[in-house]
Amino acid sequence: MFERFQTIEHAPMREYTTLRLGGPADWLVTPRSTRELIQVLSEAREADLPVTVIGHGSNLLVLDGGIRGLVIRMAQGLRDCFVQGKLLVAEAGVMMGAAANLAAEKGLSGLEFASGIPGTVGGGVLMNAGAYGGEMSQIVQEVTIAHRDGTLETREKDALAFGYRASALQAGEDIVCQVTMRLNTGDMAAIREKMSELNRQRRDKQPLDVPSAGSAFKRPEGAFAAALIDQCGLKGYAVGGARVSTKHAGFLVNTGDSAQDFLELMKSVQRIVEEKTGIHLEPEIKIMGEDIK
Ligand SMILES: Cc1cc2nc3c(=O)[nH]c(=O)nc-3n(C[C@H](O)[C@H](O)[C@H](O)COP(=O)(O)OP(=O)(O)OC[C@H]3O[C@@H](n4cnc5c(N)ncnc54)[C@H](O)[C@@H]3O)c2cc1C
Repeated sequence: MFERFQTIEHAPMREYTTLRLGGPADWLVTPRSTRELIQVLSEAREADLPVTVIGHGSNLLVLDGGIRGLVIRMAQGLRDCFVQGKLLVAEAGVMMGAAANLAAEKGLSGLEFASGIPGTVGGGVLMNAGAYGGEMSQIVQEVTIAHRDGTLETREKDALAFGYRASALQAGEDIVCQVTMRLNTGDMAAIREKMSELNRQRRDKQPLDVPSAGSAFKRPEGAFAAALIDQCGLKGYAVGGARVSTKHAGFLVNTGDSAQDFLELMKSVQRIVEEKTGIHLEPEIKIMGEDIK
């Protein structure tokens, strides 16, 4: 199956997620163009296979039993990116850092916030990824989407219902193929300096040398997840090899090999924080796949 494409059978999902966890996907295909993506979807439909889409896997916890059916990996596949006036057009598999670098090279400002987010432009739109006061909703102009039946549609920003780490695309059926972002003319040196400064701040505050999926929980209204977790004395708290980072309590890191441990850590942190502060933490990380049977 999927012989015509860049395909891996029984693909270990730990190799395709920044958390380095997760059992095998039955098939993992990396389409190299929108045309290939549509062909892959057609084969999956004919074989009646469930389809899961991932970007760079930087916001994912894949469970130990892996993912049944087909995983379409956009990172490393659809990677075209170009600038037209003040518009930056990127295919979904382009990394946010690469898009930010291209913008800087062309003297375009607006994507500096994204330079250290280790995900794809497609995943970034779906998650409305953001940092340091910027987020994708501020710059996205339109998005081209492939439906599961292989038809393409272009949607304007207003139809994407962006919210905090949320968008209408999270309903799950649409596949982001291409994103058009509107940027502003800026000073190249100032843009580069801002990107370096934000990345310095990241390196100082975040545990970038240990596998994680970034902030595990969304920011609750009127509070910060990391501060609440810290306040509850949970820095360093562990379930097996999954632990709350001692550097940044909002990051749950993986030093082991069990997605089950990671899931239990997430649930324990949620329970303890809710018991002690009354605030419910909602996961930002997306959980996929199945347990070991
Ligand atoms: C060290 C570290 C730091 C981080 N810092 C930040 C930060 O500052 N701000 C922030 O917002 N996030 C941050 N994150 C989280 C993560 O990088 C973002 O959420 C990112 O946008 C996810 O992109 P991705 O390509 O990795 O998507 P994935 O993790 O692969 O997928 C995320 C979701 O998007 C879906 N998806 C991905 N691509 C597509 C597509 N083309 N079409 C349809 N659905 C798709 C997947 O099904 C899944 O539901 C961080 C993560 C790490 C590891």
